[in-house]
Amino acid sequence: PTSWLVYCRPGFESDTLAEMQHHADQQGVSCEPSCGDGWACLTRLDGEPVNMLHRQAAFQRLIFARQSLAALPALNLSRDDRLSSMVEQVKASRWNFEEIWHETPDTNDGKALSGLIKALTKPLESILKKRGALRRKAGGRRLHIFWTEGDRVQLGISFPGNRSELINGIRRLRSPSRAPSRSTLKLEEAWHEFIPRDEWDVRLAGHMQAADLGAAPGGWTWQLVQRGMYVYAIDNGPMDAELMRTGQIDHLKEDGFTWAPPQRLDWLVCDIVDKPVRVLAMVERWLTQKWCREAIFNLKLPMKKRWEEVSRCLATLTEALSEANVSADIACRHLYHDREEVTVHVRLTH
Ligand code: SAM
Repeated sequence: PTSWLVYCRPGFESDTLAEMQHHADQQGVSCEPSCGDGWACLTRLDGEPVNMLHRQAAFQRLIFARQSLAALPALNLSRDDRLSSMVEQVKASRWNFEEIWHETPDTNDGKALSGLIKALTKPLESILKKRGALRRKAGGRRLHIFWTEGDRVQLGISFPGNRSELINGIRRLRSPSRAPSRSTLKLEEAWHEFIPRDEWDVRLAGHMQAADLGAAPGGWTWQLVQRGMYVYAIDNGPMDAELMRTGQIDHLKEDGFTWAPPQRLDWLVCDIVDKPVRVLAMVERWLTQKWCREAIFNLKLPMKKRWEEVSRCLATLTEALSEANVSADIACRHLYHDREEVTVHVRLTH
């Protein structure tokens, strides 16, 4: 495979490409960019395999990528026989894999392809099984068939440990009916993304204390309260009355950018809509003073060059923490429930 194919939120293709290009540049690999609604692709100009670039640009560290694949050239399919050219391409690639996922861009056109895909799933599987390409022991590799149109696909392969384990790279979460706002899902998704499930009981524990800056009406606070935490909810606006009745919340009408906690807390979360530099300066203060051990916050990105802005922000934060001798793990992702924003997670390490 000579192409690196990445799925992203529609509208974020140029940011995704800028991020991919950064990794290609770092490795001195020249590529031809291409993109369409909800995806971006780099193809090596020298015709060499893309595997090293794909591996080095580790999925877990990518910001705008929902999925990351080593891919073959896109295929136009004949409407009378969609399967043959796919089977031929798989055969020529000598790929083998344990499963096949059919995926589409996160668009209405993409969703409309589900009937067609359903009809082709079984027939394709049995042909590829017969050919020995789809088999039981194949190192966890997965074939992704990315349908950009009813007669156009791009085939990619993914490897365990360097991919999203979610179809289309999308984490669907059920909106809790009792949560005060839909943005509650942003914090829940962030936890899934940044905290391994088997560590939730320790890192999101009931005895913990948290600050929620820009808390109203309380979607994020609701998540913290669900975990059993005590929450300082900082916002001039009103908090949901039912949520307040849990008795686990101290609602303070203060400025989140200047408020300091009465004692050290475990968590800081912040969903204030403001300039990234302001949010960063506040978070830096919290972390260098060790007012919390972990933080999750959004950086709003209304500007055009979002990748440049985010990478600048992350570099600033990294530098500030290292200057203060604070060691921390920093991760950042454009979550499914994020729109014009990305979510950052910081965890102090010892
Ligand atoms: N995360 C919340 C939820 O799930 O319900 C929604 C937060 S809303 C996007 C942003 C909030 O930040 C608003 O309620 C606004 O009043 C608050 N806000 C804006 N500037 C603030 C500041 N300087 N200090 C505290 N809160 C602020």
